[in-house]
Amino acid sequence: MLRLLGLGLGWIALGAAVSLLLLGFTVGAFAVVVLSAPVLGEEYGTAVGLSLLCVGLPISFVLAVATHELGHVFAGACAGFRPQFAHIGPITFTRRAGRWRLGWDGRQSWLGGRAVCARRPGSRARVAAFLLAGPSANLVTGVAAAVWFADAGSPALPRCWAGLFAVQSLFFSVVNLVPVRYRRLDSDGLALCRLFAGCGLKGE
Ligand SMILES: [Zn+2]
Repeated sequence: MLRLLGLGLGWIALGAAVSLLLLGFTVGAFAVVVLSAPVLGEEYGTAVGLSLLCVGLPISFVLAVATHELGHVFAGACAGFRPQFAHIGPITFTRRAGRWRLGWDGRQSWLGGRAVCARRPGSRARVAAFLLAGPSANLVTGVAAAVWFADAGSPALPRCWAGLFAVQSLFFSVVNLVPVRYRRLDSDGLALCRLFAGCGLKGE
């Protein structure tokens, strides 16, 4: 009974955390749009300005996902693990014979990425560093982009795209630490939770 109660409370806490994250993401994205749209409109005209803003959404999304996966791959290589595979949406990077090969796989999740390294006997600290590297890369670049966006004197278009990148990066930095399993893959947070039980090296 107590176990069921604990499980129920856990799910409620998880739901509340995800709801708060989504609310923060929505508010942040809305603030960037409200602050950027008039400036872009003045500089490029309303239609072109709004089009540039819309184009910035997928571009900043891809860059934020790429930053996350690069963080994993870089940390994995530094920890002595052998990077094998990464994907950013349907774009894949496979390492064979020491060389990275670019590919396309429409079966991969189009709204995310993943980095896989071959595990080598090592300390848990190395595995933890590999798992934390993705969210950390998002946090560092997200804060840098937010600082850029805060400078009202910056050129309108890069400032707007920096704002969109900042919101998505900061969102990814936190949401990837939520301990969930999605499409048969553990989030970085869940993999960290399972670290002491022995986890694979699949950073999402
Ligand atoms: Zn990750």
